[in-house]
Amino acid sequence: MIEQKYKMIILGPPASGKGTQAEFLAKKLNLPTISAGQLLREEVDKDSEIGREIKDYMEKGELVPNRFTNELVKARLEKDDCSDGFISDGFPRIRIQAKFLDTFVDLTQAIVIRVSDEEVERRLAGRRICSKCGKVYHLEFNPPLKENACECGGKLELREDDTPQAIHQRLKIYHEETEEVADYYQEKGILIEINGEQSIEKVKKEVFNKLKIKS
Ligand code: AMP
Repeated sequence: MIEQKYKMIILGPPASGKGTQAEFLAKKLNLPTISAGQLLREEVDKDSEIGREIKDYMEKGELVPNRFTNELVKARLEKDDCSDGFISDGFPRIRIQAKFLDTFVDLTQAIVIRVSDEEVERRLAGRRICSKCGKVYHLEFNPPLKENACECGGKLELREDDTPQAIHQRLKIYHEETEEVADYYQEKGILIEINGEQSIEKVKKEVFNKLKIKS
């Protein structure tokens, strides 16, 4: 039997559960999850000149220019651990990035998790992120075992771009730019649409079913 390779991306508005579902898939399929946002945050943490520039965009909820993002993601996806597949969370977010990705990867699936703006705003209020490993929790829906602490021991924090203003900007970009990326993959025939307004477990079930993976 030829083993199926999964070179997937996950799309969705902020707090749609992309990262959570990417982790489920990564664990099940033994694949790395590549988060563009996390790669960028690591760059910011280096406090380099580039990092400071990137931080400015991220804090406002704006997209980081392609001249930083594209090469960072490409270098990561070209590492050995991605050669048998990967799950990309947050890249591409605009059509030009999707075209860039096409130049070096043959994607097998694009998953889009649909969630309304009202639900996004409700969810973001409780979101916390580990300052050490980047794992995402939600105080209500996916709470940490220990209060304010990640399983890795890191401290949980509110993300700087989870302010109301930044959230508004990120949703605007999602509707104006990222939804178009879903259309792009629809035209290619690899789009899988998921109803994100269900419990985490039910979303997981829908994702696995549609990918024909046993949960
Ligand atoms: P995320 O962790 O996916 O919510 O991304 C957080 C922030 O990182 C976004 O609001 C953008 O500022 C930046 N970012 C993430 N992915 C991209 C991308 N593909 N292109 C440009 N900026 C990005």
